[in-house]
Amino acid sequence: MNNLVSNIYKKDFVTAFEGDQSGNTRPRQTPGALYSKAVPTPVSDPALLAWSDELAAELGMGKPASEDAIDILAGNFITSTMYPYAACYAGHQFGHWAGQLGDGRAITLGEWIDAKGESWELQLKGAGPTAYSRRADGRAVLRSSLREYLMSEAMFYLGVPTTRALSLVTTGDQVLRDMFYDGHPEHEPGAIVLRVAPSFLRFGSFELLAARQETENLKKLTDWTIERFYPHITGENKYLQWYKEVVERTAVMIVEWLRVGFVHGVMNTDNMSILGLTIDYGPYSFVDDYDPEFTPNTTDLPGRRYAFGRQASVAKWNLSCLASAIAPLFEGTDQLVEALDGYDSTFWNKYTAMMADKLGLDSLRPEDSSLISMIEKAMIAIKPDMTIFYQLLITLPSALSDANEIIDCFKESFYKEPSAEASELLVLFVRQYLERMKTNTCSREESERKMRASNPRFVLRNYLLHEAIQDLGRGNNTLFLRLQEAIRNPYSDRFDQFFVRRPDWAGQAAGCSMLSCSS
Ligand code: AMP
Ligand code: MG
Repeated sequence: MNNLVSNIYKKDFVTAFEGDQSGNTRPRQTPGALYSKAVPTPVSDPALLAWSDELAAELGMGKPASEDAIDILAGNFITSTMYPYAACYAGHQFGHWAGQLGDGRAITLGEWIDAKGESWELQLKGAGPTAYSRRADGRAVLRSSLREYLMSEAMFYLGVPTTRALSLVTTGDQVLRDMFYDGHPEHEPGAIVLRVAPSFLRFGSFELLAARQETENLKKLTDWTIERFYPHITGENKYLQWYKEVVERTAVMIVEWLRVGFVHGVMNTDNMSILGLTIDYGPYSFVDDYDPEFTPNTTDLPGRRYAFGRQASVAKWNLSCLASAIAPLFEGTDQLVEALDGYDSTFWNKYTAMMADKLGLDSLRPEDSSLISMIEKAMIAIKPDMTIFYQLLITLPSALSDANEIIDCFKESFYKEPSAEASELLVLFVRQYLERMKTNTCSREESERKMRASNPRFVLRNYLLHEAIQDLGRGNNTLFLRLQEAIRNPYSDRFDQFFVRRPDWAGQAAGCSMLSCSS
């Protein structure tokens, strides 16, 4: 088996494109360069806190067996075939053009080839400054690193397209952070995640080249992306076909977020993967009490641009930025505009099909859209716990009709007593739902199987992460280890110790319901 130390890493990206090879990490603009060499800054006392055997097995990678291997995971050792670099990209943040951004604290070490010949970018997050760190330190704190490590793997096991995480090391160094942005910075333990994806290219990578009017580079990057990651797309119309597929993959990702109740929190175009993967885990959250207006990001509070229920439309807005960026590769913009507009029907078809599965319907019929809008209205009015609500729906008795009995069936998911109007909406939905279920052409077991596969029973709630982080700070890793197991079994009842509503104390606690970007 191959291992981190002896592996021969590929460096296709850096050989294909122009970069700044100086290794200088002074913050600056890097015109003409798609990346800048950035050697990780060593840390004082690296220790392995977590390692994913499952992901390592997929990559055909042996466990870190030597100090050298741990040193690689901490940025203290670079092998002779690695070429560490920070990617340059740009982006729109909160709806505004932000110019050049780039990996301010992410450093790609090299490309790992698995047994099937697939290539994976290995990237350290928090390994020190790069040319794109601007005024920041290039480091990451344990709190946010643990969140990225656990959540990206949790999303993978939920079946949501995502980047992965292989390891989490503590650095032994302290990092200064103003967690609440209130002028009271404090030292926190530093950490580094090694994350893995076929590529970390973003919409912003293409926006950068468009903004710089480097059309040749733009064409080259697009060709490269298609060749490597969309190899089935060839021929004359390939740019259009490719864009359509990015639109489709993005729609699939958003539908999956909505299925499991995930809110990303910072859907800037520099955080949108060109492969349709969930990327850059920051102030994210699962929805506990159902609310389309819920945003977990304190910076997003004024406009709630990135709220749960707005993610589908923001994705389209982001796709429009990508369309503008690649427009120079087209003769006119009509076809691009049409492809962008295709997002609405693609999204809607996938969304309604997903909802039909969540509800256990045999197939999606035209009249089912009213059922879907009824459940949404009822949930908005009641604000039940989303995860628990859908689990209760799976075991709903089929012979219900009394209103009180119906409401009682969902009690376990309520954060507060529902109003009379809200209760009425739920009763209306349930009655129509049970009628519809009678006409299912599949068996009840088949329908239940579908529901169990579409509705997670365990989700990695922010308050659980918060508790795990606090416990680790006191030297207790019990909850962390338990969560690491639970994320691998989100559809089973094996971890029903976590099948409870978010506790009252966590409703308003910082780090539980709301998070800042400080990480
Ligand atoms: P984000 O909102 O986390 O996607 O970050 C936006 C930009 O800020 C990215 O280019 C990051 O690389 C950069 N950034 C965030 N935190 C740091 C940090 N501690 N040091 C350097 N750059 C950072
Ligand atoms: Mg980012």
